[in-house]
Amino acid sequence: EERIISAHMAEEDATVEFSLRPRYLSEYIGQTRVKENLKVYIEAAKMRGEALDHVLLYGPPGLGKTTLSHIIANELGVHIRATSGPAIERPGDLAAILTNLQPGDLLFIDEIHRLNRSVEEVLYPAMEDFALDIVIGKGPSARSVRLDLPPFTLVGATTRAGSLSSPLRDRFGVVSRLEYYTEDELTLIVQRAADLLGVTIREEGAVEIARRARGTPRVANRLLKRVRDFVQVQGDGVITGEAARDALDRIQVDKMGLDRVDHKLLLSIIENFRGGPVGLETIAATIGEEAHTVEDVYEPYLMQIGFLQRTPRGRVVTPKCYEHFGLEMPT
Ligand code: ADP
Repeated sequence: EERIISAHMAEEDATVEFSLRPRYLSEYIGQTRVKENLKVYIEAAKMRGEALDHVLLYGPPGLGKTTLSHIIANELGVHIRATSGPAIERPGDLAAILTNLQPGDLLFIDEIHRLNRSVEEVLYPAMEDFALDIVIGKGPSARSVRLDLPPFTLVGATTRAGSLSSPLRDRFGVVSRLEYYTEDELTLIVQRAADLLGVTIREEGAVEIARRARGTPRVANRLLKRVRDFVQVQGDGVITGEAARDALDRIQVDKMGLDRVDHKLLLSIIENFRGGPVGLETIAATIGEEAHTVEDVYEPYLMQIGFLQRTPRGRVVTPKCYEHFGLEMPT
Protein backbone atom coordinates (compact mmCIF):
# COMPACT_ATOMS: atom_id res chain seq x y z
CA GLU A 1 0.00 0.00 0.00
CA GLU A 2 1.40 3.38 -1.01
CA ARG A 3 1.55 5.81 1.89
CA ILE A 4 0.34 9.30 1.20
CA ILE A 5 3.19 10.72 3.26
CA SER A 6 5.78 8.56 1.52
CA ALA A 7 8.54 10.78 0.20
CA HIS A 8 9.24 8.33 -2.59
CA MET A 9 8.15 9.19 -6.06
CA ALA A 10 4.91 7.42 -6.94
CA GLU A 11 3.47 6.94 -10.39
CA GLU A 12 0.78 9.54 -9.87
CA ASP A 13 3.39 12.16 -8.97
CA ALA A 14 5.24 11.96 -12.25
CA THR A 15 3.20 14.23 -14.51
CA VAL A 16 2.25 16.74 -11.86
CA GLU A 17 5.80 16.91 -10.53
CA PHE A 18 7.03 17.78 -13.94
CA SER A 19 4.68 20.74 -14.15
CA LEU A 20 5.40 21.90 -10.60
CA ARG A 21 9.13 21.66 -10.88
CA PRO A 22 10.88 25.02 -10.56
CA ARG A 23 13.09 25.72 -13.61
CA TYR A 24 15.58 28.25 -12.26
CA LEU A 25 17.39 28.89 -8.99
CA SER A 26 15.28 31.99 -8.39
CA GLU A 27 12.13 29.82 -8.27
CA TYR A 28 13.68 27.18 -6.05
CA ILE A 29 12.47 27.85 -2.53
CA GLY A 30 14.67 27.25 0.52
CA GLN A 31 18.04 25.43 0.75
CA THR A 32 19.55 28.91 0.83
CA ARG A 33 23.14 27.98 1.51
CA VAL A 34 23.27 25.24 -1.13
CA LYS A 35 21.63 27.57 -3.63
CA GLU A 36 23.97 30.49 -2.96
CA ASN A 37 27.07 28.36 -3.30
CA LEU A 38 25.86 26.72 -6.50
CA LYS A 39 25.11 30.12 -7.94
CA VAL A 40 28.74 31.13 -7.51
CA TYR A 41 30.10 27.88 -8.95
CA ILE A 42 27.76 28.06 -11.94
CA GLU A 43 28.70 31.68 -12.59
CA ALA A 44 32.41 30.87 -12.35
CA ALA A 45 32.15 27.90 -14.70
CA LYS A 46 30.29 30.03 -17.22
CA MET A 47 32.87 32.82 -17.01
CA ARG A 48 35.69 30.37 -17.65
CA GLY A 49 33.76 28.55 -20.34
CA GLU A 50 34.38 25.26 -18.54
CA ALA A 51 32.17 22.43 -17.38
CA LEU A 52 30.96 22.85 -13.82
CA ASP A 53 32.76 20.69 -11.27
CA HIS A 54 31.00 17.42 -10.37
CA VAL A 55 28.26 17.86 -7.76
CA LEU A 56 26.99 15.36 -5.20
CA LEU A 57 23.56 16.11 -3.69
CA TYR A 58 22.46 14.08 -0.72
CA GLY A 59 19.56 13.98 1.68
CA PRO A 60 16.20 12.24 2.19
CA PRO A 61 13.92 11.62 -0.82
CA GLY A 62 11.57 14.33 -2.06
CA LEU A 63 13.70 17.30 -0.98
CA GLY A 64 14.49 18.49 -4.48
CA LYS A 65 17.68 16.78 -5.66
CA THR A 66 16.36 15.89 -9.12
CA THR A 67 14.78 19.32 -9.43
CA LEU A 68 18.05 20.99 -8.53
CA SER A 69 20.00 19.00 -11.10
CA HIS A 70 17.62 20.15 -13.85
CA ILE A 71 17.96 23.70 -12.59
CA ILE A 72 21.75 23.49 -12.71
CA ALA A 73 21.54 22.40 -16.36
CA ASN A 74 19.12 25.24 -17.16
CA GLU A 75 21.30 27.81 -15.43
CA LEU A 76 24.37 26.53 -17.28
CA GLY A 77 22.43 26.42 -20.54
CA VAL A 78 23.41 22.80 -21.23
CA HIS A 79 21.57 19.55 -21.93
CA ILE A 80 20.81 17.14 -19.16
CA ARG A 81 20.92 13.39 -19.50
CA ALA A 82 19.14 11.77 -16.53
CA THR A 83 19.56 8.18 -15.42
CA SER A 84 19.93 6.22 -12.20
CA GLY A 85 22.37 3.86 -10.53
CA PRO A 86 20.25 0.72 -10.94
CA ALA A 87 19.45 1.57 -14.59
CA ILE A 88 23.10 1.40 -15.63
CA GLU A 89 23.74 -2.32 -15.54
CA ARG A 90 26.98 -2.79 -17.43
CA PRO A 91 30.14 -0.70 -18.02
CA GLY A 92 29.18 -0.55 -21.71
CA ASP A 93 25.87 1.15 -20.84
CA LEU A 94 27.70 3.94 -19.09
CA ALA A 95 30.31 4.18 -21.86
CA ALA A 96 27.49 4.65 -24.38
CA ILE A 97 25.96 7.45 -22.33
CA LEU A 98 29.29 9.20 -21.82
CA THR A 99 30.33 9.11 -25.47
CA ASN A 100 27.01 10.64 -26.47
CA LEU A 101 27.39 13.72 -24.29
CA GLN A 102 28.10 17.10 -25.81
CA PRO A 103 30.75 19.39 -24.32
CA GLY A 104 29.54 20.90 -21.04
CA ASP A 105 26.50 18.60 -20.73
CA LEU A 106 25.19 17.47 -17.38
CA LEU A 107 24.83 13.81 -16.55
CA PHE A 108 22.46 13.21 -13.66
CA ILE A 109 22.69 9.87 -11.87
CA ASP A 110 19.99 9.37 -9.25
CA GLU A 111 20.60 6.78 -6.52
CA ILE A 112 24.26 6.87 -7.39
CA HIS A 113 25.10 4.71 -4.36
CA ARG A 114 23.50 1.80 -6.22
CA LEU A 115 25.96 1.76 -9.14
CA ASN A 116 27.73 -1.54 -9.33
CA ARG A 117 31.46 -1.73 -8.91
CA SER A 118 32.44 -2.40 -12.51
CA VAL A 119 30.34 0.54 -13.70
CA GLU A 120 31.77 2.76 -11.01
CA GLU A 121 35.28 2.04 -12.22
CA VAL A 122 34.41 3.46 -15.64
CA LEU A 123 33.37 6.65 -13.91
CA TYR A 124 36.69 7.33 -12.19
CA PRO A 125 38.78 8.26 -15.27
CA ALA A 126 35.69 9.82 -16.84
CA MET A 127 35.22 12.18 -13.91
CA GLU A 128 38.88 12.86 -13.37
CA ASP A 129 40.37 13.12 -16.87
CA PHE A 130 37.30 13.04 -19.14
CA ALA A 131 38.61 9.77 -20.51
CA LEU A 132 37.37 6.29 -21.14
CA ASP A 133 39.70 3.32 -20.83
CA ILE A 134 38.73 0.53 -23.17
CA VAL A 135 40.32 -2.89 -23.31
CA ILE A 136 40.61 -4.27 -26.83
CA GLY A 137 41.20 -7.95 -27.48
CA LYS A 138 41.63 -10.83 -25.08
CA GLY A 139 44.49 -12.70 -23.45
CA PRO A 140 48.14 -11.73 -24.01
CA SER A 141 47.39 -9.48 -26.98
CA ALA A 142 44.83 -7.40 -25.06
CA ARG A 143 45.64 -3.73 -24.83
CA SER A 144 44.05 -0.72 -23.27
CA VAL A 145 43.08 2.29 -25.33
CA ARG A 146 42.19 5.65 -23.88
CA LEU A 147 39.35 7.58 -25.51
CA ASP A 148 38.78 11.26 -24.87
CA LEU A 149 35.36 12.31 -23.66
CA PRO A 150 33.81 15.73 -23.91
CA PRO A 151 34.11 17.66 -20.65
CA PHE A 152 30.89 17.17 -18.68
CA THR A 153 29.41 17.66 -15.24
CA LEU A 154 28.26 14.70 -13.23
CA VAL A 155 25.51 15.42 -10.72
CA GLY A 156 24.95 12.49 -8.41
CA ALA A 157 22.04 12.18 -5.99
CA THR A 158 21.81 9.85 -3.04
CA THR A 159 19.83 9.37 0.14
CA ARG A 160 22.89 8.00 1.86
CA ALA A 161 26.24 9.69 1.29
CA GLY A 162 27.74 7.19 3.72
CA SER A 163 27.27 4.25 1.39
CA LEU A 164 29.16 5.84 -1.49
CA SER A 165 32.62 4.34 -1.94
CA SER A 166 35.31 6.80 -0.98
CA PRO A 167 37.05 6.85 -4.40
CA LEU A 168 33.73 7.94 -5.91
CA ARG A 169 32.90 10.45 -3.19
CA ASP A 170 36.37 12.01 -3.46
CA ARG A 171 35.85 12.79 -7.13
CA PHE A 172 33.04 15.26 -6.45
CA GLY A 173 34.26 18.85 -6.18
CA VAL A 174 31.00 20.03 -4.66
CA VAL A 175 29.16 18.04 -2.00
CA SER A 176 25.88 19.54 -0.80
CA ARG A 177 23.46 18.23 1.77
CA LEU A 178 19.80 19.15 1.37
CA GLU A 179 17.90 19.81 4.59
CA TYR A 180 14.27 19.37 5.56
CA TYR A 181 12.29 22.51 4.73
CA THR A 182 10.87 24.87 7.34
CA GLU A 183 7.14 25.41 7.70
CA ASP A 184 7.45 28.87 6.12
CA GLU A 185 9.32 27.51 3.11
CA LEU A 186 6.80 24.73 2.64
CA THR A 187 3.97 27.24 2.89
CA LEU A 188 5.51 29.12 -0.03
CA ILE A 189 5.95 25.87 -1.96
CA VAL A 190 2.29 24.96 -1.40
CA GLN A 191 1.12 28.43 -2.44
CA ARG A 192 3.23 28.31 -5.58
CA ALA A 193 1.98 24.82 -6.47
CA ALA A 194 -1.66 25.82 -5.83
CA ASP A 195 -1.15 28.76 -8.13
CA LEU A 196 0.25 26.54 -10.89
CA LEU A 197 -2.59 24.04 -10.42
CA GLY A 198 -5.16 26.84 -10.50
CA VAL A 199 -6.51 26.15 -7.01
CA THR A 200 -7.59 28.93 -4.67
CA ILE A 201 -5.93 28.57 -1.30
CA ARG A 202 -6.02 30.75 1.81
CA GLU A 203 -2.83 31.32 3.72
CA GLU A 204 -4.12 29.21 6.64
CA GLY A 205 -4.85 26.37 4.29
CA ALA A 206 -1.31 26.47 2.95
CA VAL A 207 0.12 26.59 6.48
CA GLU A 208 -1.99 23.62 7.53
CA ILE A 209 -0.70 21.53 4.61
CA ALA A 210 2.89 22.72 5.14
CA ARG A 211 2.78 21.73 8.80
CA ARG A 212 1.88 18.14 7.98
CA ALA A 213 4.23 17.72 5.02
CA ARG A 214 7.19 16.27 6.93
CA GLY A 215 9.55 19.00 5.80
CA THR A 216 9.31 17.56 2.28
CA PRO A 217 8.11 19.36 -0.90
CA ARG A 218 7.02 16.13 -2.57
CA VAL A 219 4.76 15.31 0.37
CA ALA A 220 3.45 18.88 0.44
CA ASN A 221 2.49 18.71 -3.22
CA ARG A 222 0.80 15.37 -2.76
CA LEU A 223 -1.20 16.52 0.27
CA LEU A 224 -2.22 19.60 -1.68
CA LYS A 225 -3.65 17.45 -4.46
CA ARG A 226 -5.62 15.30 -2.01
CA VAL A 227 -7.01 18.32 -0.20
CA ARG A 228 -7.96 19.82 -3.54
CA ASP A 229 -10.00 16.68 -4.32
CA PHE A 230 -11.97 17.11 -1.10
CA VAL A 231 -12.70 20.81 -1.54
CA GLN A 232 -13.71 20.33 -5.15
CA VAL A 233 -16.07 17.46 -4.48
CA GLN A 234 -17.43 18.40 -1.07
CA GLY A 235 -16.68 22.09 -0.64
CA ASP A 236 -16.69 25.25 -2.70
CA GLY A 237 -13.29 24.60 -4.24
CA VAL A 238 -11.44 26.95 -1.91
CA ILE A 239 -8.78 25.55 0.42
CA THR A 240 -9.36 27.32 3.71
CA GLY A 241 -7.61 26.39 6.95
CA GLU A 242 -10.65 24.45 8.08
CA ALA A 243 -11.10 22.64 4.76
CA ALA A 244 -7.44 21.60 4.82
CA ARG A 245 -7.70 20.39 8.43
CA ASP A 246 -10.82 18.34 7.67
CA ALA A 247 -9.37 16.75 4.58
CA LEU A 248 -6.05 15.93 6.23
CA ASP A 249 -7.80 14.42 9.23
CA ARG A 250 -9.83 12.26 6.89
CA ILE A 251 -6.80 10.95 5.09
CA GLN A 252 -5.31 10.29 8.52
CA VAL A 253 -2.26 12.48 8.44
CA ASP A 254 -1.96 13.97 11.92
CA LYS A 255 -0.79 17.40 13.07
CA MET A 256 2.86 16.37 12.94
CA GLY A 257 2.50 14.75 9.51
CA LEU A 258 2.46 11.24 10.91
CA ASP A 259 0.28 8.58 9.34
CA ARG A 260 -0.99 5.21 10.57
CA VAL A 261 2.28 3.47 9.81
CA ASP A 262 4.24 5.98 11.88
CA HIS A 263 1.71 5.52 14.67
CA LYS A 264 2.12 1.79 14.48
CA LEU A 265 5.90 2.06 14.54
CA LEU A 266 6.05 4.44 17.50
CA LEU A 267 3.24 2.82 19.47
CA SER A 268 4.77 -0.62 19.09
CA ILE A 269 8.00 0.64 20.67
CA ILE A 270 5.95 2.20 23.47
CA GLU A 271 3.61 -0.71 24.05
CA ASN A 272 5.81 -3.71 23.38
CA PHE A 273 9.21 -2.44 24.43
CA ARG A 274 8.44 0.14 27.13
CA GLY A 275 9.76 2.89 24.87
CA GLY A 276 12.94 1.05 23.82
CA PRO A 277 15.75 0.52 23.17
CA VAL A 278 14.70 -1.78 20.37
CA GLY A 279 16.64 -2.94 17.30
CA LEU A 280 16.07 -1.63 13.79
CA GLU A 281 15.24 -5.08 12.42
CA THR A 282 12.49 -5.54 14.98
CA ILE A 283 10.96 -2.18 14.12
CA ALA A 284 11.13 -2.96 10.42
CA ALA A 285 9.37 -6.29 10.96
CA THR A 286 6.63 -4.60 12.99
CA ILE A 287 5.61 -2.37 10.10
CA GLY A 288 6.54 -4.82 7.34
CA GLU A 289 9.23 -2.69 5.72
CA GLU A 290 12.85 -3.29 4.82
CA ALA A 291 15.30 -2.17 7.50
CA HIS A 292 17.08 0.18 5.11
CA THR A 293 13.80 1.84 4.13
CA VAL A 294 12.97 2.45 7.77
CA GLU A 295 16.46 3.81 8.30
CA ASP A 296 16.70 6.03 5.21
CA VAL A 297 13.15 7.19 4.77
CA TYR A 298 11.04 7.00 7.93
CA GLU A 299 13.44 7.45 10.81
CA PRO A 300 15.15 10.65 9.63
CA TYR A 301 11.91 12.59 9.95
CA LEU A 302 10.96 11.03 13.28
CA MET A 303 14.40 11.98 14.58
CA GLN A 304 14.19 15.43 13.06
CA ILE A 305 11.00 16.18 15.02
CA GLY A 306 12.55 14.70 18.15
CA PHE A 307 10.25 11.69 18.53
CA LEU A 308 12.86 9.00 18.06
CA GLN A 309 16.52 8.64 18.98
CA ARG A 310 19.18 6.25 17.78
CA THR A 311 21.32 4.94 20.61
CA PRO A 312 24.08 2.31 20.53
CA ARG A 313 21.60 -0.14 22.06
CA GLY A 314 18.75 0.56 19.67
CA ARG A 315 15.93 2.99 18.98
CA VAL A 316 14.26 4.88 21.81
CA VAL A 317 11.13 7.03 21.76
CA THR A 318 11.31 10.38 23.53
CA PRO A 319 9.11 12.11 26.13
CA LYS A 320 7.93 14.39 23.31
CA CYS A 321 6.59 11.34 21.49
CA TYR A 322 4.73 10.09 24.58
CA GLU A 323 3.26 13.56 24.90
CA HIS A 324 2.05 13.52 21.29
CA PHE A 325 0.05 10.37 21.97
CA GLY A 326 -1.11 11.62 25.38
CA LEU A 327 0.60 8.71 27.12
CA GLU A 328 2.53 8.50 30.39
CA MET A 329 6.22 7.63 30.27
CA PRO A 330 7.02 4.47 32.27
CA THR A 331 9.19 5.23 35.27
P1 ADP B 1 14.31 14.25 -4.93
O1 ADP B 1 15.03 14.13 -6.23
O2 ADP B 1 15.17 14.81 -3.83
O3 ADP B 1 13.63 12.98 -4.49
P2 ADP B 1 12.56 16.02 -6.42
O4 ADP B 1 13.56 16.95 -7.01
O5 ADP B 1 11.98 15.01 -7.34
O6 ADP B 1 13.14 15.33 -5.11
O7 ADP B 1 11.39 16.94 -5.79
C1 ADP B 1 10.07 16.49 -5.61
C2 ADP B 1 9.07 17.57 -6.00
O8 ADP B 1 9.07 18.56 -4.99
C3 ADP B 1 9.41 18.30 -7.29
O9 ADP B 1 8.70 17.83 -8.38
C4 ADP B 1 9.03 19.74 -7.05
O10 ADP B 1 7.71 19.96 -7.53
C5 ADP B 1 9.01 19.87 -5.57
N1 ADP B 1 10.14 20.65 -5.07
C6 ADP B 1 11.31 20.14 -4.60
N2 ADP B 1 12.12 21.11 -4.16
C7 ADP B 1 11.45 22.27 -4.33
C8 ADP B 1 11.76 23.65 -4.04
N3 ADP B 1 12.90 23.98 -3.46
N4 ADP B 1 10.85 24.59 -4.37
C9 ADP B 1 9.68 24.21 -4.93
N5 ADP B 1 9.32 22.94 -5.21
C10 ADP B 1 10.19 21.98 -4.93
